[in-house]
Amino acid sequence: MDGRVMPISEARIQVNDWGLVHSDITYDVVPVWEGGFFRLDDYLARFSASRASLRLDIGMEDGAITAALQDMVAASGLRAAYVAMVASRGVPLIPGTRDPRQCGNHFYAWCVPYVHVMRPDLPPESRTAWIAQSVTRIPESSVDPRVKNYHWGDFTAGLFEAKDKGFETVILLDSDGHVTEGPGFNVFAVCGDRLVTSDHGMLEGISRRTVLEMAQEQGLKTEIRPLPLQEFLDADEVFLSTSGGGVAPLTRVNDRVYQNGGIGPVTSELHARYWRWIHDPAYRTEIDYR
Ligand SMILES: *Cc1c(COP(=O)(O)O)cnc(C)c1O
Repeated sequence: MDGRVMPISEARIQVNDWGLVHSDITYDVVPVWEGGFFRLDDYLARFSASRASLRLDIGMEDGAITAALQDMVAASGLRAAYVAMVASRGVPLIPGTRDPRQCGNHFYAWCVPYVHVMRPDLPPESRTAWIAQSVTRIPESSVDPRVKNYHWGDFTAGLFEAKDKGFETVILLDSDGHVTEGPGFNVFAVCGDRLVTSDHGMLEGISRRTVLEMAQEQGLKTEIRPLPLQEFLDADEVFLSTSGGGVAPLTRVNDRVYQNGGIGPVTSELHARYWRWIHDPAYRTEIDYR
């Protein structure tokens, strides 16, 4: 932050930063595993597209961002990390202005030990998701979900619903009853030898892309299209994809139990393959911890 590496407890943003007061901000999160970034170029490309979409100019190219992330992770000493890069609108350059062009856009990054969206030691019976009833996913005509963002009002309301009912996480539908995504993850249905995932209303996850590519290697067909809730509930297996853990199986959605409460074979194989791919030098950028 401000060109320095510092303890996370000392990192500060100003209280009138539009990133905070207007959620006028975008971010990305790249995983580090065993001392290397996974698919860093893909995350950087998405972060760049998000900045362009919001007209955020942080005055840094991918090379400078990479150097900042490398320095920060090396200084932290973390070999498995959740690494966030952020671009914020910043503070108005003219006090009180409502002109988004008149703000001091800025970059910062932070990292913490690797985060699993669903803890890996969670027993199968606890891998549950609730379909939110009180909220739908923010319409993409209002907030573009392909720009990774902090507009979490819908997810947070959904998480309260899910947690109050004893579920681990939540999945949101669009206004037509199609499955979109959940807080920090994409969603897949396995129907025989086919994988189905939504084509709209969600962030195009890098892990989602990895799953679609792994599916090819694994001899599965893929369908990217609207996914009706009933089809999702009727599927053989369902799972989440996220940079926080890769492929995370679900065993129950609402009162529908999949695979007799166990983890299905297609999901298990994709999960194992994800962890093989994360070690593949072709996808890795090693960090120099000197
Ligand atoms: C980050 C995120 C995902 C998952 O994307 P990955 O690139 O696979 O980590 C899915 N949905 C939302 C809303 C997210 O913020």
